[in-house]
Amino acid sequence: MSFRASILSLYPQMFPGHLGESLAGRALERGDWELDTVQIRDFATDRHRSVDDTPAGGGAGMVLRPDVLAAAIDHASPQGDERPRLLMSPRGRPLTQERVRELARGPGAVIVCGRFEGIDQRVIDARALEEVSVGDYVLSGGEPAALTLLDAVVRLLPGVMGNAASGEFESFETGLLEHPHYTRPQDWEERAIPDVLLSGNHAKIEAWRRAQSEELTRQQRPDLLQAKKKPPQG
Ligand code: SAH
Repeated sequence: MSFRASILSLYPQMFPGHLGESLAGRALERGDWELDTVQIRDFATDRHRSVDDTPAGGGAGMVLRPDVLAAAIDHASPQGDERPRLLMSPRGRPLTQERVRELARGPGAVIVCGRFEGIDQRVIDARALEEVSVGDYVLSGGEPAALTLLDAVVRLLPGVMGNAASGEFESFETGLLEHPHYTRPQDWEERAIPDVLLSGNHAKIEAWRRAQSEELTRQQRPDLLQAKKKPPQG
């Protein structure tokens, strides 16, 4: 059974978006993963098909109604659906490569894309939505966040990228950022490829890459060095 993503959104036409192109797009055509979208507005019950209302307690903006969203969730993810139910949200736990890997091993995901000020808290609680953030900044809607999450997951699915995403030496997989890459031409604008990479000495190359990774991580993301247990030194 392939990985199946169900997206709940007020803008389902944003999907598959960039995931319809390149490797992810070809994998989608082959059926290596599946995508379906649910228009939340289809579950509105009033004449005006309204999906939002003013915030209880006052304040700016509008809030997605719990009854409409719950009906859409129950349609997309009926009882017995084993897939995790995610809500894209700046309040969520920041997405990590580790969580991406877990999701890629599973049956898929039901992904709710918020809009407006957010969604009624009761539907988050009642449908046990896992809030997931793609970073400490605020988007206007959950759709680009969902596309980002799916992009990260789909490239790990069997057959999508072949060995390229096996991931052992990619950024975050070792708790470090990846080393720099070079290719031909050997000299470019008076910048040469580091000699060690042309030496053919694989042990030396490996040691150089590891040192570069560590230095880069220290400079750019010292938090990673603290958060992750140190990989075995070699
Ligand atoms: N008022 C909210 C922001 C709402 S933004 C707050 O301050 O927390 C509207 C929608 O965009 C959210 O419901 C969510 O689905 C999506 N969104 C915004 N920023 C996001 C982020 N960093 N990660 C994931 N989803 C995000």
